[in-house]
Amino acid sequence: MAEPDNSPRTVACPPAPDGCGAPAGEPCMSHGGTRVRHNFHRARSVAWNQARIAQSAAVSLIQQAATQRRGMHAKHAVELLEQHGFVAEAALIQRAVKERNGLMSAKQAAALLLEAAEGGEDR
Ligand SMILES: [Zn+2]
Repeated sequence: MAEPDNSPRTVACPPAPDGCGAPAGEPCMSHGGTRVRHNFHRARSVAWNQARIAQSAAVSLIQQAATQRRGMHAKHAVELLEQHGFVAEAALIQRAVKERNGLMSAKQAAALLLEAAEGGEDR
């Protein structure tokens, strides 16, 4: 089974005590480094998520705003995206907000954009 690129394995695991220090591309090891872990250290998953977020300027924008503004709604994310010229991203969130009858947070909007960026068209 091919390992998808879309996994925490693409980043290095942080050193102990948070992770095992496995280099990018290598699997996480259990204590002692003798057995391969089937999942990833939590810290590695966090680092991977941050790397994904950093790759998308639109997602970073929402994430940053959402940390400063508790309970930020997705419609604010739409405004923010429009202000910064992310028109396509703004339209995508706007549609999703409508589909969910307005029940969507800015953080959910960011997650949606991330998915769209990764699952979207080939580059
Ligand atoms: Zn690890």
